[in-house]
Amino acid sequence: MAVGKVIQSDEQAMAVDGLRRFLAAEVDPLFSKDYRDRFMPRDVMAGLMRRLSDFGLVSGVVSPAAGGLGLDWLTSLMLFEEVAACSVDLSVPVLINAFGAYLLEQVASPELRARYLPGLIAGDSFVSMGISEPGVGSNVMEVRTRARRDGDHWIISGEKTWISNGAYSDFLICLCRTSDDPRDGLTQILIDRREHGYEVRGIDKIAFNSQSTAQIFLDDVRVPVANTIGEEGGALKRTLAHFEKSRAFVAMQAVGLARRALEEAVAYAKGRRQHGKVIAGHQLIAAMLAEMATQVDAARLLVHRAAQLFDAGERAEMEAAMAKYFACEAAVTVARQAVQIHGGNGVTRDFLVEKLAREAIVCPIPEGTTQIQQLIIARALTGVAAF
Ligand SMILES: Cc1cc2nc3c(=O)[nH]c(=O)nc-3n(C[C@H](O)[C@H](O)[C@H](O)COP(=O)(O)OP(=O)(O)OC[C@H]3O[C@@H](n4cnc5c(N)ncnc54)[C@H](O)[C@@H]3O)c2cc1C
Repeated sequence: MAVGKVIQSDEQAMAVDGLRRFLAAEVDPLFSKDYRDRFMPRDVMAGLMRRLSDFGLVSGVVSPAAGGLGLDWLTSLMLFEEVAACSVDLSVPVLINAFGAYLLEQVASPELRARYLPGLIAGDSFVSMGISEPGVGSNVMEVRTRARRDGDHWIISGEKTWISNGAYSDFLICLCRTSDDPRDGLTQILIDRREHGYEVRGIDKIAFNSQSTAQIFLDDVRVPVANTIGEEGGALKRTLAHFEKSRAFVAMQAVGLARRALEEAVAYAKGRRQHGKVIAGHQLIAAMLAEMATQVDAARLLVHRAAQLFDAGERAEMEAAMAKYFACEAAVTVARQAVQIHGGNGVTRDFLVEKLAREAIVCPIPEGTTQIQQLIIARALTGVAAF
């Protein structure tokens, strides 16, 4: 592997190695050839999710008492890096299902947990997390999708957008406004696609098109109050706390992508000859490779630090924000440099770096943009919120 060493226990090294072999042999060809920029149907994606569950993806973040493998956060993130280095498209449903499963275990009623958690852990079902709306992005407090009470049901109307897993989803954990209080008026409600129904429309993007990102339309959808996740009005605080961990995963997604770009660039620089020698022997190419490798490793170490804080049971809001900010911006820089090292070949579809560069551009947007991470870091430094 063309990156610096990290400390791993024997168990972590074995788990990472086994997963890497599986991904290289069985998954990489799917995303680099058959489904390159082409939507992967649900049954094929579900087949992969089932296989990945055996390696501790999704199942890892759930405790053994609830049917999962109960891995620590650092190990889960090490495994997740491998998935992202193979395919960021594949890493999206892994991430979303993992955080849906984590939320269900932590907060949902025993009935909801019994009904929806086993399918997610096994890789049989898909969840979507519906926060963003056409008019609501960086400021979660402004959510407008309304849930109003009608006896023992919620009636939900609104529109969610940018929803990962949307087309695959069996259920949506929807952030709804249940009162006008900006902080204490948001509630998460589980909407079952088959029982309650919602309309899904795919979104075509610059990249990440092998998996689903969708708009979801809710038109007076009738859902039992028993499908409320956690206490009514308590979802904002929980969503913000949840971001702390999910941002570390989005950061690791960027690390995996950047590492792959570096690996591709190293291989190319060792093979391509110009001016009588391989381009790796030209000092300006060597400098670029050295900078790329240092960026990848620095980003990974920031993610590992956040994971170690999670595992120690400590808050890590600033550290997760630093990891997300740095890793996603590093991915953009590293992927661009990988294209540069490939010369003209780098902008053709014959080489993977073209796709990696398009994917990298997306990374600084979801789960809080780069600017939002900067604001969080600065607020932690000064105690003054600049947003
Ligand atoms: C591939 C992908 C997958 C996604 N998956 C999901 C999902 O599963 N579920 C979900 O709910 N959402 C999802 N999202 C949505 C994502 O979380 C939002 O796109 C993100 O929060 C930014 O919101 P926005 O796009 O509305 O941008 P806006 O909030 O409109 O921001 C536009 C620009 O203004 C900047 N900006 C905003 N506020 C400030 C400020 N106070 N100070 C300085 N700059 C500011 C932003 O940094 C950005 O540059 C996904 C998005 C993408 C691209």
